Amino acid sequence: MNDSVKYPAGEGRWKESDRAIAHIDMDAFYASVEILDFPELVGLPVVVGGDSNRGVVSAASYEARKYGIHSAMPIFRAKRLCSGLVIRPGRMTRYVELSREVMKVLHGFSPIVQQLSIDEAYVDLTGTGKLFGRPSSAVCSIKKEILAATSLTCSIGLSSSKLIAKVSSDMNKPDGIAIVPPSRVMDFLHGLPVGAIPGIGGKSEEQLRQIGVRKIGDLSKLKPGYLEERFGKFGRRLEAIAEGRIHSELIPWSQPKSVSNELTMPEDTSDMRTLEKYLLGLADKVGRRLRRQGLKGRTVTLKVKTHKHRLLTRSSTLEHPVNQGRVIYEQTRGLLREYGVPVSLRLIGVGVSGLEPESGGGQFAMFEGPSPGEEKWDRVERAVDSIIDRFGSGAVKKGRQLE
Ligand SMILES: [Mg+2]
Repeated sequence: MNDSVKYPAGEGRWKESDRAIAHIDMDAFYASVEILDFPELVGLPVVVGGDSNRGVVSAASYEARKYGIHSAMPIFRAKRLCSGLVIRPGRMTRYVELSREVMKVLHGFSPIVQQLSIDEAYVDLTGTGKLFGRPSSAVCSIKKEILAATSLTCSIGLSSSKLIAKVSSDMNKPDGIAIVPPSRVMDFLHGLPVGAIPGIGGKSEEQLRQIGVRKIGDLSKLKPGYLEERFGKFGRRLEAIAEGRIHSELIPWSQPKSVSNELTMPEDTSDMRTLEKYLLGLADKVGRRLRRQGLKGRTVTLKVKTHKHRLLTRSSTLEHPVNQGRVIYEQTRGLLREYGVPVSLRLIGVGVSGLEPESGGGQFAMFEGPSPGEEKWDRVERAVDSIIDRFGSGAVKKGRQLE
């Protein structure tokens, strides 16, 4: 194992009372698992992804990255960059199995673990000094234990906040540790290019560049209030970051088994159009909750309760996991029509189970890339999500709900 530890903003002390948050990120996770399980791939440029004209790279080995290949790149372009490229289909079950091993190790160091995706998590190491020593040695132990449990390497960022831990875990990749002690946080932060902050993308970066802001430190040279005036809520967030108000709690999270919504209707009904109207609202809500949690599911369930309080469920399992309201609606509507509604109903519900992380998702989501039509719907639904986040669910009604 590479025992390299970097201090990108210099060394500093860690007091017992200081917070200590580690961000753990597995190195080229899917590609590394392929190389681990198929040793003949060692030293070869390997990507995991769908080998079709719609396929995208979902992980690239470090060997493949030397050719400029990176995740989210279309497979055909990756092949053009490297003629000897090895393309492996994804083996999600195996990745999930190893991900569980990683999370198990992390839970051995702290009860407060926030899993971000299949291969990334925060661990709150605050106050664990008596058990694991200084935070800098605790993260070394985490790395060793992950290697022992999975034979895979990871990179770790350690600081006093989630934000800085996450940013620094990229700074000594692969197989390295980067530490920003609490006393060095402000210097570190002010030296960062604004684009290094998760959530600040190309467009905001460009807008900030226009007002002369390249680094976080440049933000604090602006007139107080200016950022809010110009960028609203986003500006307030930037101001907070520039002042080092960046602490947020870890959200210990375990993946739910299913996401569902149901509704007792104002009056019992067997009218198909009325039922479909409610179904559409429920399917949208379930889709939104799935997307917000970064999940997709394969099994879609319709639940109804008759006027005599008899409960019935019907499910269908799909080839690809879904989280779009439109697809969930179509599936449950099909189930409702199959059922035929012979009696009037008092309750109707929609559920999605067989969940998996969206980013590490099924064949459709990551190995193929969405078809243009799907992508458009996906964008529409996400745009709706952001409107609802800002203005509440009353702001958006789809055609059929308006009737
Ligand atoms: Mg990773």
